[in-house]
Amino acid sequence: MRIEELFRLLPSVDELVSRAGGGVPHELAVQECRAVLEELRAMIRAGEKTLPDPLTLLQDRLQALGRSSLQRVINATGVVLHTNLGRAPLTESATTGWYSNLEYDLGTGRRGKRDSHTASLLERLLGVPGIVVNNGAAAVFLALHELAAGGEVIVSRGELVEIGDGFRIPDIMARSGAVLVEVGTTNRTRVEDYERAITERTRLLMRVHPSNFRIQGFTGRASIEELAALGKARGVPVYEDLGSGSLADLTPFGVTEPTVQSSLRAGADLVSFSGDKLLGGPQAGVLAGREDLVHRLRRNPMFRALRVDKLVIAALETSLRHILLQEWQALPVMRMIRLTAEELKARAEGLAAAVEGASVVPGHSLLGGGSTPEQVLPTWLVALPGQAAELERKLRGGEPAVIARIEGDRLLLDLRTVRPEEEAELAEAIRKAL
Ligand SMILES: *Cc1c(COP(=O)(O)O)cnc(C)c1O
Repeated sequence: MRIEELFRLLPSVDELVSRAGGGVPHELAVQECRAVLEELRAMIRAGEKTLPDPLTLLQDRLQALGRSSLQRVINATGVVLHTNLGRAPLTESATTGWYSNLEYDLGTGRRGKRDSHTASLLERLLGVPGIVVNNGAAAVFLALHELAAGGEVIVSRGELVEIGDGFRIPDIMARSGAVLVEVGTTNRTRVEDYERAITERTRLLMRVHPSNFRIQGFTGRASIEELAALGKARGVPVYEDLGSGSLADLTPFGVTEPTVQSSLRAGADLVSFSGDKLLGGPQAGVLAGREDLVHRLRRNPMFRALRVDKLVIAALETSLRHILLQEWQALPVMRMIRLTAEELKARAEGLAAAVEGASVVPGHSLLGGGSTPEQVLPTWLVALPGQAAELERKLRGGEPAVIARIEGDRLLLDLRTVRPEEEAELAEAIRKAL
């Protein structure tokens, strides 16, 4: 058939829309219909001889409009804080009512502050006042913008990190209006290096937790204690960007992230950390420390621009309360970190028994969330038989989508990040894919 004839065989917009039936606003159906016809014309121009049915294409598109793009997936990668899968899963209990006392003081009947809901929890946990902004990057920006714009901030060359997705400390510093003064070398920086760089323009001594990499060998960095002593002597505050910001000691589980409390105890005047990394809450950035500094941050106009929504406040309050009351089982991230290799082995064996040809092998779960690759937890993995790449694609395309790991030429599933109640569904998805 000639190209002109193929074009002529395409239905008109009106015809196709009326055949597709109602359900969505007419204008929208027309718009989607035009897109379908344009797609088909492009195929014809490209020399395609057998075209898909226009009506099916349109109906698929209209149906997709009603489906949520953001959907639940089963995370079988074993990466606890998987940045692509939303980092920390939220506590099941975090809710807000229809209306809430978000900025209303029920005691006095007057206007309240939205961060009053998290303020007392932060103060109890950290011993200092704290405020909440949109995320860790916003916290760094606000701290530098308020405390150092127009002045200088001293940072070690070993800590000028890129966290991911292009978030670089030097860039954010430039945007905040503060001038970066680099000291030391990539692998070693001493407190004397900071000391020599202090001028009358110095506003902050900054330390950045190098969350996602490790420099090995001949290395050294100034401790917070040393920096705090220097800062005190010279009247310059010390600010530490902790990144993941663990509020609970995780060393019993083999995780060696510095806690927020230890940084403050060591003398940091101000710290910042993310809400959805090891804290286990929603996306947020917390700034906590000396009262006068926190007071200034809260009065900066950018604080209003970076403020968090009520859903975030509700989820963060719930997470902080669980941490304060040490209700670890109620916090998904803590629950997953605390799973022992034995528990996981039993669960992996259960899943493997339900899938023909599957075997159970020892391996490691990753902490993730910008932590180093060495932060691993022992686990047992379910290895699936068959061609790994194809299996991975099939599982990913299922409903719910299952995200797994490929190592070598094997497809591996780690149940650490799978909820026990998802296991039957997972077994079914695997059987289908195989
Ligand atoms: C993750 C991280 C950030 C950014 O935090 P977000 O909440 O992702 O914006 C900043 N600094 C460090 C050291 C980090 O690890």
